[in-house]
Amino acid sequence: MLDRIEVVQGDITQQQVEAIVNAANNSLLGGGGVDGAIHQVAGPELLEECRKLKGCPTGEAKMTRGYRLPAKWVIHTVGPVWRGGNYKEDEYLAQCYQSCFALIEKHQLKTVAFPSISTGAYRFPLERATRIAVAETVNFLKGNNFVEKIVFVCFNIRVYDCYVNELKSIQKVYNIGNGNNTLCPYT
Ligand code: ADP
Repeated sequence: MLDRIEVVQGDITQQQVEAIVNAANNSLLGGGGVDGAIHQVAGPELLEECRKLKGCPTGEAKMTRGYRLPAKWVIHTVGPVWRGGNYKEDEYLAQCYQSCFALIEKHQLKTVAFPSISTGAYRFPLERATRIAVAETVNFLKGNNFVEKIVFVCFNIRVYDCYVNELKSIQKVYNIGNGNNTLCPYT
């Protein structure tokens, strides 16, 4: 199961996967960070399609085409803004991953890349967000044999190290090898 998880350092807009996940805002009308990068590469047609979706509540996800991206699909999800931890931020972030996985299952997608949702402008603590991202992914993959690859795309070395460390500690729990099969080198 962990052999279907990859961690790379890179730009999610360049990933050769069927779908990439966008850490969007409630309007779905574009923003900064990963959202801005995705819209820039996908082109104006993405914004056109997003307009028709009439926004997205926090924790939910909606899918569009990828247009000029290498990925055919974009799954837009809206992570919580970190407000100190007492506003169900953990639950909302877990729900983001669950909502994405529901769409991945529904559309039978085999390869999907995720950014580190909520850890940029939304200021969710990185270690805490990474634990949630990995736990939700492992939980999903346990019950799904169709998905071939989930890629965590880390924009910088700090995020990359955090995912690698979290996966290493999970690997110890599952006791399935030394990690050389499951963790990809930087791309
Ligand atoms: P949020 O508003 O959910 O916090 P951000 O886009 O501000 O979303 O940040 C989420 C994460 O995405 C951060 O770790 C940020 O470094 C990362 N990021 C920004 N641009 C890209 C990109 N092109 N590819 C992958 N990750 C990116």
